[in-house]
Amino acid sequence: MMLEYFRSLESGIEQGLSCGPEGALKARKLFALEVARIGIRLYSGERKIAWCGVLVPFDLLNAMDLVPCFVEFVGSMLANLGSAAPFLEVSEQSGYSTDICSYHRAINGAAMKGLMPVPDLLVASSSPCSGGLSTIERLAGRFEKPLFVIDIPYKHSAASVKRLADQYRRMVRFAEENAGVRLDPQALRRAVANSNLVRDLLVEIFDLCSKRPSPARRNDMINFLLVMSLIFGTDDSVGLAASYRDELLKKVQDGTPGIKREEVRLLWFQNRIQFKSPLEKMLEEEFNAAIVADELNSVTWGPIDPDSPYEGMAERTLTNPLASSVDLRIGHLLEMAEKYQIDGVLNPCHWGCRQGTGARGLIEKALRKNGIPVLNLEVDCIDSRNFSEGQLRTRVGAFMETIRVKKGV
Ligand code: SF4
Repeated sequence: MMLEYFRSLESGIEQGLSCGPEGALKARKLFALEVARIGIRLYSGERKIAWCGVLVPFDLLNAMDLVPCFVEFVGSMLANLGSAAPFLEVSEQSGYSTDICSYHRAINGAAMKGLMPVPDLLVASSSPCSGGLSTIERLAGRFEKPLFVIDIPYKHSAASVKRLADQYRRMVRFAEENAGVRLDPQALRRAVANSNLVRDLLVEIFDLCSKRPSPARRNDMINFLLVMSLIFGTDDSVGLAASYRDELLKKVQDGTPGIKREEVRLLWFQNRIQFKSPLEKMLEEEFNAAIVADELNSVTWGPIDPDSPYEGMAERTLTNPLASSVDLRIGHLLEMAEKYQIDGVLNPCHWGCRQGTGARGLIEKALRKNGIPVLNLEVDCIDSRNFSEGQLRTRVGAFMETIRVKKGV
């Protein structure tokens, strides 16, 4: 089912790109093409697979010619296809509590139904959530495949960089021993060079998105850096980032706005809703509002020194706000709110996420103290079974009206 889906997605996008009109916007189509190709690599059985956690350094594994992917990719794809419910039910009927994050319930259900490709190895990490770690441990047991666990230090210091870098070195040896692959020093240098090129392009892309009006259309930036991180280190990642940068730059130079009339600028907290929902369209068409920033779309790390790649990758992980205390996360959100001139924050409060939803009170309090209103939505980003469009409309409508009155628009 999944391989056919990704193959037909790939051919449809390729066809659209080849016969689209001159000058048509294509960066998002190239993004979708990349998603399709990741899916094909995972499901075709042609290459060795590493199921991973979200914060694993994918450039390192890509340089070893593995197909690395965070397990949540499957939950997200199932939701996007409108097919998550049967897999959620399978996991719930087998005893998984509905209090567990639905990304992980969907993944476990998919594994039980044979929809998760059998990996050659697995790499879990202690951040961003213990649910991800437990899910990967469970998959390792189910598939009887070797598991490497990265313990991401909680605090960023010289000692923690060293500790994490040493774990990345051990991860490479683990992959070499268990998957029969090899990390060629030249391939690593190339991956680091590509990651640095992409990093610089990402800085430009997010700067362009912060312009007023923002040039990004309502769906352009959904899941952007999450997917981009999966292809870190590859030539494809450079091409995709460059196409985003070029397209957004041209729109800024031409004065082309992302949405027709941008009156309200919003920041999205953590993950977007992965199944089809009317939210972004409603914000644009009914409230002239744009989500101009996503918490997960930001560059917090510096260039990686090609002579110390493991330390550079460790620095990148440790500066990720999802890998540290809620205070750092709040500080990061406040910086983003200022940079993007945000009028309000939408927090989906994804059901079962101790990471994001668990911090909602502290985040709301801190942002409100700084004059930034927050709307905590009670939604599940994967499970559409309890999604109530009416309730969403009521809550978002009231929030938007408050902001619009305050702004006088
Ligand atoms: S939504 Fe929360 S619990 Fe679920 S995978 Fe993401 S961080 Fe983990």
